[in-house]
Amino acid sequence: MARPLSRRKSTKVQERRCIYCLEDKPTNEFNTEHVIPQAFGKFGGQSPTVDCVCERCNSRLGKELEQSFSYSSVEGFHRLAAGLKSARDFRPDLASDIDGILIREGPVAGCIADFRPSLDGTTVDLILRPQVGFAKTHDGPFQWHSPGCLPTKEQLQAEFGSSPPCVRWVGAVDDRQILAELTRKCRLVGGGEILVQNVQASVARVDVLATVTQKHIRTIAKIAFNYLAFAQRGLAYLPELNDLRRYVLAGTCSWTPIQKVVAYPADSRARLKWHAVSIRCTGNTIFGVVVPLGILRYTLLLNPVPLPLPATFASGHRFDLQTRQAKCCPLSR
Ligand SMILES: [Zn+2]
Repeated sequence: MARPLSRRKSTKVQERRCIYCLEDKPTNEFNTEHVIPQAFGKFGGQSPTVDCVCERCNSRLGKELEQSFSYSSVEGFHRLAAGLKSARDFRPDLASDIDGILIREGPVAGCIADFRPSLDGTTVDLILRPQVGFAKTHDGPFQWHSPGCLPTKEQLQAEFGSSPPCVRWVGAVDDRQILAELTRKCRLVGGGEILVQNVQASVARVDVLATVTQKHIRTIAKIAFNYLAFAQRGLAYLPELNDLRRYVLAGTCSWTPIQKVVAYPADSRARLKWHAVSIRCTGNTIFGVVVPLGILRYTLLLNPVPLPLPATFASGHRFDLQTRQAKCCPLSR
């Protein structure tokens, strides 16, 4: 006697196709992929996830891209200020793309510092690099130079006029060596003053100087592509998105999806308040916008090859860092 159709169906292994490697695999080889990497917060509400990234791709992309983005990008560093990471657990050794911290206010404004967790692990200490500053008056603003690259007397005169500039230096430097160099190269006689050598991040407004690497852009592209798969699953499998797949997986294709990067002002209401992700399709083109931590707004073109049929849709989510809730918000502004 033939088995009922439903019984026969139940013995078939259910398969799903991965949006990155495009391989069909049993559903138990897939796990949940969060659109926003969990290092940037766990969100309730309508937080979008996708179940069409296989474990192998998920693990590979997590190791290769997300760790670097979480520690070594502008946004990764700002996880500290946003309360997403404690100073104690932050790893400066993994922050190789952070070029330095620019002090924005106070007596050492304009100086570059490095950073490390404080001894008690509750905050981040900024360690000023050795620098010599010149200014017209003691109130500044000071122009800072590394001790090995001081300006000549002629350059100082061109900048500050005939009267000698005010000089101060910071960081772990040898005073006698600096004075000798000021005499030799700048032909200045006299001293400066040693200011602070450590400035707490909590008392200084700072900017992070970081190189935006291809790995970081690949992470941004992954967020946009995951969100496309969440909003319009069918589109994520189109061959017109193969270049984007290759770019995220290996960074090997010559094309880059990035169209524009715009910085939000330092006093923006968005800053450190939320992440936003949105997708907009008009005609044969899909654009993605990703705004991690409200610092930089990345606009991406997801398909270098036009879609076979024109489509119109828009979808967006905002991830609130205070409430840790995500909700639909079609326009990320
Ligand atoms: Zn895969």
